[in-house]
Amino acid sequence: MKYRSTRSSETVTALEALVKGLASDGGLYVPSELPAPFLAADDLMHLSYEELAAYVLSHFFTDIPEEDMKRLTHDAYTGTFETPEIVPVKTMSESFSMAEMFHGRTCAFKDLALSLFPYLLVYAKKQQKDEREVLILTATSGDTGKAALEGFRDVPGVHIMVFYPSHGVSPLQQDQMQKQLGNNVKVVGIEGNFDDAQGTLKKVFGSELRERSAEKGVLFSSANSINIGRLFPQVVYYVWMWLSLLKQNSIGPKETFNVVVPTGNFGNILAAWIAKQIGTPIGELICASNENKVLADFFKTGTYDINRDFHLTEAPSMDILISSNFERFLYFMTGSKETVAADMQALKDTGIYSLSKEAMEKVTGEMKGGWASPKAMEEAMTNVYDKYDYLMDPHTAIAYAVYDEMKRKGEIPRHTHTVIVSTAHPYKFPGIVAKSLGLTPKDDPYDTLRMIAEKTGIAIPRQLGELESREKRFTDVVDRTEMAESIEKYVDEICEKD
Ligand SMILES: *Cc1c(COP(=O)(O)O)cnc(C)c1O
Repeated sequence: MKYRSTRSSETVTALEALVKGLASDGGLYVPSELPAPFLAADDLMHLSYEELAAYVLSHFFTDIPEEDMKRLTHDAYTGTFETPEIVPVKTMSESFSMAEMFHGRTCAFKDLALSLFPYLLVYAKKQQKDEREVLILTATSGDTGKAALEGFRDVPGVHIMVFYPSHGVSPLQQDQMQKQLGNNVKVVGIEGNFDDAQGTLKKVFGSELRERSAEKGVLFSSANSINIGRLFPQVVYYVWMWLSLLKQNSIGPKETFNVVVPTGNFGNILAAWIAKQIGTPIGELICASNENKVLADFFKTGTYDINRDFHLTEAPSMDILISSNFERFLYFMTGSKETVAADMQALKDTGIYSLSKEAMEKVTGEMKGGWASPKAMEEAMTNVYDKYDYLMDPHTAIAYAVYDEMKRKGEIPRHTHTVIVSTAHPYKFPGIVAKSLGLTPKDDPYDTLRMIAEKTGIAIPRQLGELESREKRFTDVVDRTEMAESIEKYVDEICEKD
């Protein structure tokens, strides 16, 4: 299978797309054609997560032999998750389940893809006989950065640099990044938000700095979900979800299930959409936003408009106005590189574009959007804890609140089962979780965690607890206009080390 850019006829192999990250024209790589539905539950029920991953992914990375893929998924998912199921699907009632994606090394769903992505990238480099050092440049709204740092830490031949919004992450997320271990890592805070960080990095990818660094022997790549090595590993857990529901009799063999995804950069929900295209019986696919509800408005009006205030919320990984992966969805919906290129140019110039009526008809047939206010989010956390004795993180709570409202309004078909995608461990966000439980947060986030643990009986995950006593290694904060400069400095450091 070949990959092509969303904005031009540029075509590459999967291995090339893995190494390059972003197309030369600024577009994103998509399969030239999506595979026809190929999933058959009976053949897949007995597979472990890593076996299922190898099976599904070899349909997307057709230039990696399945035997090699099996080795890569085995290495990625062995000893990196706290549960043998990798993604446990917990059925809460006849109506809904929680798919827990937070049992990896950094307690967020990003671990699912970022445990595997480094193996894919190193493999791709080797196959291409590319001896150059790779510098992974990553913008994070809070969780990608840490998951990428853990995934790439001390991987030979690879270096990683992460930019996070210095005022936009939870104290635990900040500690996770500032206290990162490893000899090939760099973390920098920026004065600005995630859109600033992602936008500046996209510019760096199209700049002379990229060429200059390549000449010095350092190749830029990305661990953001613009890379196909992030996107497709996320497809696997939607298939896994389906099989888990079948095994638990939460749905019958002929039944569909709905999925609600708390959305930021649109990577996770796009993976769900792709899973549906290859045969996962997803019914309603629901995109949940927080107060930064560009997407919810888009699904209602057909206009994507970022001319609005940016809100810093308690669900920071969704504090995004420009959802990169939406470009891929737009490509699939319109089937036109010219339309995508024009809309992306308009977005850059004016911050707004609209879809045609025909394209919008297609869109609304594929996906629904909704959003939840900070108040609805907090109430969802309180109510679900009271009713089900289940503690949600704020992102998951946004998804639940959207689900709950749609259910009440009759927008979700009765007698169908819905999966809420649970994207982070609640303990990554101690302040708001404490408040939702009626507790007053302490000054020190770890004290707050201990208080929550005492009340709920939920143990503090080792990955988070061990941060408390660790030393901060990275406290630099730069203006976003200085990002390119700090990248160049790190490139020179890498060259000196060799
Ligand atoms: C990244 C993230 C999201 C948003 O996922 P996208 O793929 O960017 O849409 C939601 N919740 C959490 C906890 C996240 O880390």
